[in-house]
Amino acid sequence: MRIDVRELDLGPLALKGEILESELGFDPSEIRVLGRIVVDLTAERQVLEVRIRGRLTTDVGLPCSRCLESVQFPVATEFDQFYESNAEHPLHGEIALHERDTEIGFFSGDFIEVSDIVREQILLSLPMKPICREDCKGLCPHCGKNRNLSDCNCESVLVDPRLLQLLKIKNRMTF
Ligand SMILES: [Zn+2]
Ligand SMILES: [Zn+2]
Repeated sequence: MRIDVRELDLGPLALKGEILESELGFDPSEIRVLGRIVVDLTAERQVLEVRIRGRLTTDVGLPCSRCLESVQFPVATEFDQFYESNAEHPLHGEIALHERDTEIGFFSGDFIEVSDIVREQILLSLPMKPICREDCKGLCPHCGKNRNLSDCNCESVLVDPRLLQLLKIKNRMTF
């Protein structure tokens, strides 16, 4: 699904449909799309810019940043974004970023790919450090076990200095 920018000279364009996960190119070990990606948008020409407004819903699976178990996050986001043609503004980078911060995107040629918009909007709506639950205990840094599922003995062995002394003595005796 893409927006033909030339068509916008005739008037605003409304688009509604589904984007396939394969069009987004996410690394499945980082972001997995679990539901349909439904997008509904309107594009209109505003002098040099194209304004695209709409909404997007889907469900995404991300690994918990502590225990790496997959956690499902619903995505339901609304966007209102401006795009400018690269050709019209060869110096775009500096000028546009100063004026409008991150509100502006760029496209080249006559088309704006809807999958590009969707990819960006999904990334913007995801938490930086997803966690499966507030009290997730994470993985043991020593043996890698998921401490939500079972306890391991690493902590006591490595932290308790008295036990460490005992182990040293024991090791010496075996030599
Ligand atoms: Zn977790
Ligand atoms: Zn452990």
